[in-house]
Amino acid sequence: MPAAIISGKDIARTIRDELNAQCAALAKEGLIPGLATVLVGDDPASRLYVGMKQRAAAEAGIHSRAETLPATTPESELLALIDELNADPAIHGILVQLPLPRHIDDSKVLLAIDPDKDVDGFHPVNVGRLATGDPEVLAPCTPRGVIEMLLRSGADPSGKHVVVVGRSNIVGKPMALLLLRKAAGGNATVTVAHSRTSDLGAVTRTADILVVAVGWPDTITRDMVKPGATVIDVGTNRVDDPEHPRGYRVVGDADFEGVREVAGAITPVPGGVGPMTIAMLLANTVEAAIRLRKAGR
Ligand code: NDP
Repeated sequence: MPAAIISGKDIARTIRDELNAQCAALAKEGLIPGLATVLVGDDPASRLYVGMKQRAAAEAGIHSRAETLPATTPESELLALIDELNADPAIHGILVQLPLPRHIDDSKVLLAIDPDKDVDGFHPVNVGRLATGDPEVLAPCTPRGVIEMLLRSGADPSGKHVVVVGRSNIVGKPMALLLLRKAAGGNATVTVAHSRTSDLGAVTRTADILVVAVGWPDTITRDMVKPGATVIDVGTNRVDDPEHPRGYRVVGDADFEGVREVAGAITPVPGGVGPMTIAMLLANTVEAAIRLRKAGR
């Protein structure tokens, strides 16, 4: 029997409806969560992502403030804007769309964001909080979305062996840390694989849950998956397809059709992890707003 499909699109819709209700209740108490997006330059993909995030925020009842700066903006000007947003009581979440133009130091900008408003979860303070198991951390959106997908599809990682393929700072590493937490969605036995792992298939075949975040199509084939395993495919890759109106298709890192024959459940691409990332950005913004209010800020 082919694997069940875990629809990130459907789960994200449910979460966004829940957030909508939560924002309506908060508004009655006088709290309107606010998200500021900062886009520097005119990269079309970045513009598209920021637009999607703003629309999703507005739909959920989150106040959104869009700052679009020219590509030539000096670093000092961007840092001054971050200071202003840090001090703005109507803003609870700050998202600086990466990549930034080359003359701007990404790490300096991320360090300037107030960790309590860092809804991307990339500030070193939040990385440390995640590593030490702080339950109130703002965790990076994509791995947080994967945990939600697992829990809401009945694949609780607790006690399971989870193999994460990929060790980037935005997906693989925080994914592993979330899975290790002594908390709901954690308590897994975690193995992290990467490009230097020898015999990747021997490692991935031991996984009850396999999370793949590599950025290369067909990295995971059916022979690399244990029968009945849950496969979460984070990869987003464009492959040429002359038959498609756009001339390309978006695929994940797993050979979906092949892996589907052996896995117990699998996420599609598109419609899998992608929509969850945006839903988690909204969830982080709402959580940040509630915590800042509690702290009297
Ligand atoms: P990175 O390029 O930063 O990291 C890729 C990781 O994969 C690295 O750790 C690398 O190992 C490892 N890797 C590369 N080739 C292999 C291989 N053949 N075997 C095993 N491991 C390998 O990518 P990201 O983590 O940023 O993103 C990964 C994918 O997820 C991309 O397709 C990206 O587009 C997608 N993505 C999707 C999101 C969503 O919302 N759906 C959000 C974020 C990312 P090493 O460290 O040794 O180089």
